[in-house]
Amino acid sequence: MCLGLAAALGIGLMALHAQEAAQETHGIAVTNLDRSVKPGDDFYLYANGDWIKRTEIPPDRSRIGVFTKLDEVGSKRTAALIEEAAKGHAGAATSTRKIADLYNSYMDEAGIEAKGLSPLKPILDRITAIRDKKELAYALGTTLRADVDALNNTNFHTPNLFGLWVAPGFNDSEHYTAYLLQGGLQMPDREYYLAESERMNKVRGTYQAHVAAMFKFAGMSDADARAKRVVELEHALAERHLSLAENEDIHKANNTWSQAEFGAKAPGLDWPEYFRGAGLTKQASFIVWQPKAFAGESALVASESLDAWKDWLAYHEIEGGAGYLPKELADERFEFFGKALTGAQQQRPRWQRGVALVNAFLGDEVGKVYAQKYFPAESKARVEAMVTNLIASFNKRIDALDWMDAKTKAEAKAKLGTLYVGIGYPETWKDYSAYEVKADDIFGNVWRGRLFDYKKDVARLGKPVDRKEWSMTPQTVNAVNLPLQNALNFPAAILQPPFFDPQAPDAANYGAIGTVIGHEISHTFDTEGAAFDSKGRVRNWWTDADLKHFEQATAKLAAQYDTYKPFPDLAVNGKQTLAENIADVAGISAAYDGYHAALGGKAAPEQDGFSGDQQFFIAFGQNWGGKSREAALRQQVLTDSHAPGQYRALTVRNIDAWYPAFSVTGGEKLYLTPAERVRIW
Ligand SMILES: [Zn+2]
Repeated sequence: MCLGLAAALGIGLMALHAQEAAQETHGIAVTNLDRSVKPGDDFYLYANGDWIKRTEIPPDRSRIGVFTKLDEVGSKRTAALIEEAAKGHAGAATSTRKIADLYNSYMDEAGIEAKGLSPLKPILDRITAIRDKKELAYALGTTLRADVDALNNTNFHTPNLFGLWVAPGFNDSEHYTAYLLQGGLQMPDREYYLAESERMNKVRGTYQAHVAAMFKFAGMSDADARAKRVVELEHALAERHLSLAENEDIHKANNTWSQAEFGAKAPGLDWPEYFRGAGLTKQASFIVWQPKAFAGESALVASESLDAWKDWLAYHEIEGGAGYLPKELADERFEFFGKALTGAQQQRPRWQRGVALVNAFLGDEVGKVYAQKYFPAESKARVEAMVTNLIASFNKRIDALDWMDAKTKAEAKAKLGTLYVGIGYPETWKDYSAYEVKADDIFGNVWRGRLFDYKKDVARLGKPVDRKEWSMTPQTVNAVNLPLQNALNFPAAILQPPFFDPQAPDAANYGAIGTVIGHEISHTFDTEGAAFDSKGRVRNWWTDADLKHFEQATAKLAAQYDTYKPFPDLAVNGKQTLAENIADVAGISAAYDGYHAALGGKAAPEQDGFSGDQQFFIAFGQNWGGKSREAALRQQVLTDSHAPGQYRALTVRNIDAWYPAFSVTGGEKLYLTPAERVRIW
């Protein structure tokens, strides 16, 4: 489970705003506050209101966050490293040369235009040549990629029929196991196909026109008829899909199927051919995340026409490669997935997209240099001290719980004791030597990159787990909890102002990065973490009474978030966002304790007249300042396990210490009676 900053920020670079470039300050951003708003009425607007008033979303963005500057700094540094590599004349097969070739091949727009559709043609020809459902099954197998992640970076979406996730096993956390997840949709979630609303009807109409346009640009006949078939097939797949809230319930996901059982449990698809295409014939068993969806999708392979499936495959290949094909395809892809679905008005500058691409396929090579250059040992030591402090406060909180069984407490503390906390960068780096990058072949580079990632994951199936392996690069502005490894990653790029500033007072650091660290640690215990023991095994280490209390307390939090409505016709889904909202409440509680432990009884220094506690809460509220376009915000509410930032900031209302800090009293909008406040840890 990640912090959700990527969703809050949008990935990649942002335009630098004049006011953000102004003079450096340390601590909370006083100029971002709107003091005309009462903290007790809307703490989010109080903490961020003036920033919101003066900030415009850049045309190439669907979102912007208060910590734009941090993302900007991190990305500019990354870009500089890549461009430096691209300018040099590194020897063949060196990693610097790979970075340079990958970046340059993307920047070579003239070369891409000159090649036209030729990189795509052999792929489309292979699809045209499919004669029967057996060959179709093999072809579908060849599309399987390691492009989903159920528990770490939580990505349940793949446009391929299914997605592979290789991770420690639910039932054997010492070895890498194969998880299979539902897939087959290009739009972000089943809701886009099934929701009955005027808005979604309109999106679906636009989508079908987009699919037709892609067929035309790819030089295929009968574009309109093909598009209709593809959209109908995706609609049928969507009907078989589980919802995001259901996907997040790991107790429903632990279904081991032997390879031989697929035919009986999910008849329709020729499974032996599928696994042969995927190069997985030797894999004895899989954990099938959504058995119902697998049965449904497999049945559709049998019941729907071969032509419909071939059109679906062709369209998915065109869409998957569109960003690396001539401009008319890349632009049409942006028109739908960028403009129509997120509201962004123009594409990011090409060099920024090139940087994102290199980060996606050679992230650790860049990260190695990034960490060396930009993450001083002193920062690492300071953050490590904060982590120690926060773990101590969680230990104390566990001891103090009156509802938890002594045995459960002992296991919770054992989990804290074995937690691996990675700060800044990993201890070992990914090996890219088997990834072939060519200077003049972006389409092939991307194709081979996706295949390289897949083969690397397949190759380690059954091998012992490296608990210290990272799932984010150092240059990523985010943080993550890896429940099956009982591990946390805090990349170097988030350990910078305004999240972490060695020159800022403790109040601001604990309120900003401290609450983030607490958020991630608490995932160890939340609705998902409660299912994994100290060794990362799936084992129910709670008593029934513990679980009952936890469910009652968390149901109250789900109900609280259900009341938040960003639009009259759309509310936040309290259940879908529950695990993240619990983590916010727990994170802020532990960070607050950690902050006071760090003060060691001394009076906190004031900043601009704000007390230590006020700075702490404002820093937390400012983590979540942001602006979204309507389409992007709607997409987030539907598809993200994190609530929009404007509501995450309001969770201070569950923390007792927030009330005296801002003299919040009954009658103010966020006021909760002590009994109504949600207390979990
Ligand atoms: Zn989280």
